[in-house]
Amino acid sequence: MICETVKKGIDCFFMTKKGCRFNGGSCHPIVEKCEGCQRILDLPTGKYCSIFPDPSAKWRLGSCNMATHIENGNKTENNRRINPLKASKRKSR
Ligand code: SF4
Repeated sequence: MICETVKKGIDCFFMTKKGCRFNGGSCHPIVEKCEGCQRILDLPTGKYCSIFPDPSAKWRLGSCNMATHIENGNKTENNRRINPLKASKRKSR
């Protein structure tokens, strides 16, 4: 449905007839690390990511895998997801 909150006029998966069902009732603004990314939407309501409703979550475990302003954003060491169970088995060997 078409967004009626912060990204007015943009088709969004989270929009319903009862309003935005994303956590908090609307998208969250970009974070400092997003600055320079080409996926930023500069709207009258603020700056938002065109693909993720909560940009801070994309940076929580390393670099955002869809960022356009960093090289190999999805291949950095920090962004590797490690299975904690396998990691503890590896340690014990
Ligand atoms: S794609 Fe990633 S870095 Fe770019 S604006 Fe969205 S969350 Fe921020």
